Amino acid sequence: ARLKEGLEKTKKGITEKIDVILKSYKGVDEELFEEIEEVLITSDMGFDTTIKIIDALRAKVKEKKIIEAEGVREALKEVIVEMLEGSEPLVEATPAIIMVVGVNGVGKTTTIGKLANRFKKEGKSVMLAAGDTFRAAAIDQLEVWSGRVGVELIRHSEGSDPGAVIFDAIQAAKSRKADVLICDTAGRLHNKKNLMNELGKIFKIVDREYPDANREVLLVLDATTGQNAIQQAKTFSEVADITGIVLTKLDGTAKGGVILAVKSEIDVPVKLIGVGEKLEDLQDFDARSFVEALFD
Ligand code: GDP
Repeated sequence: ARLKEGLEKTKKGITEKIDVILKSYKGVDEELFEEIEEVLITSDMGFDTTIKIIDALRAKVKEKKIIEAEGVREALKEVIVEMLEGSEPLVEATPAIIMVVGVNGVGKTTTIGKLANRFKKEGKSVMLAAGDTFRAAAIDQLEVWSGRVGVELIRHSEGSDPGAVIFDAIQAAKSRKADVLICDTAGRLHNKKNLMNELGKIFKIVDREYPDANREVLLVLDATTGQNAIQQAKTFSEVADITGIVLTKLDGTAKGGVILAVKSEIDVPVKLIGVGEKLEDLQDFDARSFVEALFD
């Protein structure tokens, strides 16, 4: 239900407009595809993704021998599901280390709190690492979440070496036999080289100190930022092996279509979606339910 409510604006921006177009046509012709293309392009999905969708839609309409405009709706749903599908679930085997990367403000800290809560509810033991040492506020915020969820946080003081925090956190996770260690990382996107250096150092420590842990690298993106989220996805996927996307703030944004752009640009599965600010507002992403909510 939260997903459906959350996608209300995206639905207005995409599905409802497409429905108006479909109603004004009887048969299927080139102009119809062009009008649908227009809606998608103006919906923050980006040009390349729109073209991919329209091409796939044309092929699907041909394949299914759809001759009435009405039938195009179902074909479009199928095309979108196929584009979004194929995501593996979040890491389950333990011990696991989850590195959380992303630009400041996208909802990284909140996502870490929500994730910790989820794993704890599954009966797993969870530890957090405050690897974003550049912002005192980030460390304090993580402390608040760790208290709220009831999990241990490994932290150093502001300005200390992020690698040292991750190192200590791994030793602590190993000695306490923690099932899941979730690490925050710095989200300063000054330039690609800095980012690469910072993340590179951390990953090297994880490789060396915790080689047996099942690794997940989650990139957190804010759906409300539209094209910026797509740009961030490109940059981060160039500097780190991202294993999954978390798309936050899907509640109340008209830019939910950005999910398609991210998936098609970097071909990393969207694993989780944030649909609110509360602990339980983190859902597994499922392509079928997403599309059903969008087209319902
Ligand atoms: P960080 O700087 O990336 O660590 O971002 P924070 O976790 O501090 O989140 C920034 C703001 O976004 C906070 O006000 C959060 O409550 C809010 N936020 C995070 N995730 C979501 C979400 O899924 N939906 C909504 N509506 N707000 C969110």
